[in-house]
Amino acid sequence: MSFSLFALLLLASPSITNANSICESSSGFSQEIVARWCGKGKNLNSARPRAAKPKAAKPLPAPIEEIQEDEAAQEGPRSATRIQETDRPGEPGTVRNCTPRDKERALDLLRREHPEGYRLVKKDLKQFREDAWWQDCANSENFDNLIVALHETVHGVSFPEGESGRENYPLIEGKQLKYLDNVGFFPPHRAGAEFPNDTFKDLYFTNKPDVTNSAQEFPILLDELNAYTHGLHAANVLHKHDKSRQWRAGAVALMSFVKAYITKAGQGDASDMAWQRLNEQQNRRTIQALYFQAENVVTASCRFPSDGQDRWYLAYLCKDKGASLERVLGRKPVCFAECGAKPRERRRP
Ligand SMILES: [Zn+2]
Repeated sequence: MSFSLFALLLLASPSITNANSICESSSGFSQEIVARWCGKGKNLNSARPRAAKPKAAKPLPAPIEEIQEDEAAQEGPRSATRIQETDRPGEPGTVRNCTPRDKERALDLLRREHPEGYRLVKKDLKQFREDAWWQDCANSENFDNLIVALHETVHGVSFPEGESGRENYPLIEGKQLKYLDNVGFFPPHRAGAEFPNDTFKDLYFTNKPDVTNSAQEFPILLDELNAYTHGLHAANVLHKHDKSRQWRAGAVALMSFVKAYITKAGQGDASDMAWQRLNEQQNRRTIQALYFQAENVVTASCRFPSDGQDRWYLAYLCKDKGASLERVLGRKPVCFAECGAKPRERRRP
């Protein structure tokens, strides 16, 4: 199976948070995908929301310091799904399983460039070492896996015991906010009609029977927003090591979904209860903190060029109908005008 098809299947995969994980049900997926993603006959899948994986990587130009052999040797048991034992960088468009050295290099990069992110990821390292996405190396620096690791770590803090153990939203600065209770919130997918049918809508804003995810519960939608914000922040910090991609599209997509949800809740129909819940003091403060954090990180990313996937959502965030969001935030939401535009695209003063 080609890497592009494999990546497409990963992108098309549901965000699964309950026991009916892809590893157990495998509905709609070939046995090859299930085996590669979940391990052969073994459920290695995290029972958490899952990040959309970006497109195939280009090889990274920036070299990284060699690490000591004994550090690499500390890696745990090798995966049964390993398909190629090599330490050479993967060719673009190929699937190559990560070696222990790949992973140590990636973590060393994170430790040096983004210590707060490293501390967060380190807590969940044992889990990641068995996750299938951590086994795929499309490039020598394993850059994408660092971002995915950070995204998944955020869910790890939110869902320490799986779906039943929701606790906190970890902020980038280290503080944690109490997870919202879902009582009174209508399912977010009901606010999704106006969005294009893309990967982000499919993963995070589309109703899927028997799946508990951000399309079903507003507190999980905030969790995904936070996870993408952490990922984009790391991408900003690590940008000098890989300019070929960015994670802004996911962050602005989740911001747009939150805006759409709050707008619908503010329309005053059957969703009145949700509007009340959004405006309870503690809930409001949590939403403000997560949304403002996302605004700050997206703003910091705007100096980097757009990959095109963020365009629709950036325009949506600048559209009107933001009165309800403005009420919940206590100020006007940011419109990221010309975010990621090339210099020649920017308007002259
Ligand atoms: Zn996620």
